[in-house]
Amino acid sequence: MDFNLPEETLILQDTVRRFVDNELMPLEQQLPERSNSFDLPPEIFQPLADKLEKLGLRGLDVPEDVGGAGLGPLDNCVITEQVHRCTAGRSVFASRFAHMLYELGNAQQRDKYLIPTVRGDFHGASAFSEPQAAGDLAGIKTTVEKTADGWLINGSKCWIAHAKTARYILVLARLKGTERHDGMTWLIVDAGTPGFTVGRQQNIIHGESTYELFFENCLVPDSQLLGEPGQGWGAGTAYLYASRIQIAGRALGIADRCLELATEYAQQRRTFGKPLATRQAIQWMLADSAMELHAARLMVYEAAWRAQAGESVIPQTAMIKVVATEMAGRVVDRAVQIHGAAGVSDETVLERCYRDVRPMRIYEGSSEAMRSVVARSLLQ
Ligand SMILES: Cc1cc2nc3c(=O)[nH]c(=O)nc-3n(C[C@H](O)[C@H](O)[C@H](O)COP(=O)(O)OP(=O)(O)OC[C@H]3O[C@@H](n4cnc5c(N)ncnc54)[C@H](O)[C@@H]3O)c2cc1C
Repeated sequence: MDFNLPEETLILQDTVRRFVDNELMPLEQQLPERSNSFDLPPEIFQPLADKLEKLGLRGLDVPEDVGGAGLGPLDNCVITEQVHRCTAGRSVFASRFAHMLYELGNAQQRDKYLIPTVRGDFHGASAFSEPQAAGDLAGIKTTVEKTADGWLINGSKCWIAHAKTARYILVLARLKGTERHDGMTWLIVDAGTPGFTVGRQQNIIHGESTYELFFENCLVPDSQLLGEPGQGWGAGTAYLYASRIQIAGRALGIADRCLELATEYAQQRRTFGKPLATRQAIQWMLADSAMELHAARLMVYEAAWRAQAGESVIPQTAMIKVVATEMAGRVVDRAVQIHGAAGVSDETVLERCYRDVRPMRIYEGSSEAMRSVVARSLLQ
């Protein structure tokens, strides 16, 4: 029997590949650099969103009852890979946190936040990182305490993507008086809640921005508690494990595109009377990229397949995040090198890919943190 993805996953892969090639690739060079689905001009975003709706591809990781596509981690990963072959991809497929809202949210929260988020009416942000604790998440200092009127939040966050335009923020805080993994609690804070402010914009290499957030005696009603108080650690880490599979998928897509571009360019570009592709130095760069991409893809698909089958894949998700994002860094770098000046200019999308892959080794679990997870599972 041939090794392959399940039949239905292959159909999804093909559908999304055609959508990306036909609808997104032509847009790629026109999009503003700092684009995401939240700031695309409506005349560009809306027709794309409508087409995705028709294809059943909104809210990939949440069930149909809230308007999602109800896909498992493998299908979601394979789609994410296809989408990120195009730098315009991240612009229209952003549906972060929907899964966490689905898992933890009650019926009112699903109606108020999740369903409109999946529909694309507005979006949220997720805030766990703090100035003194981001990689070391158990060290967060933002506190929440129960009062007669609701929940009182005090503290600050940083590096929070999409916070400026978010309608609501999912905030991780700790019950006052608790330490480390105990007392972790998620709350939903609406933009404009008294005591909550969005601070300094922090510009990131890949073109998007993150923000500082401040909570000063920010009081939210009981209805804004997301899940059980004190039980937030498990929910937060489950969200991160799932998102690591998707980040790995993203890395595969970017690397795949860069290898494709480098291969084409090496055949066209002639130097010293011959195509670059005839030079062994160039061939080896292409071969190394193809081998590394293939190895990473097999690992990523396997971990995603296990997750889809319901297995616990904590060390596997750590492994694939490191392997895929570090692989993508090398593949993009070689593609840039093969393109010479064109690779570091905005004549090609490679410089955008180069900037896109670098933060992936830092956010949602740095390479070092991921290696620690893998080592811990070996040494236990
Ligand atoms: C583009 C981008 C978007 C982000 N979006 C969000 C968001 O939406 N919401 C949110 O909450 N956060 C977000 N973050 C924050 C992100 O999760 C943190 O940056 C990340 O967890 C790393 O934390 P840190 O930057 O404080 O690094 P630190 O934890 O200070 O670590 C610094 C460096 O030291 C290494 N290191 C740390 N401890 C050890 C150790 N014990 N052994 C060996 N090496 C170690 C780390 O791997 C890292 O390379 C975002 C970050 C970026 C770059």
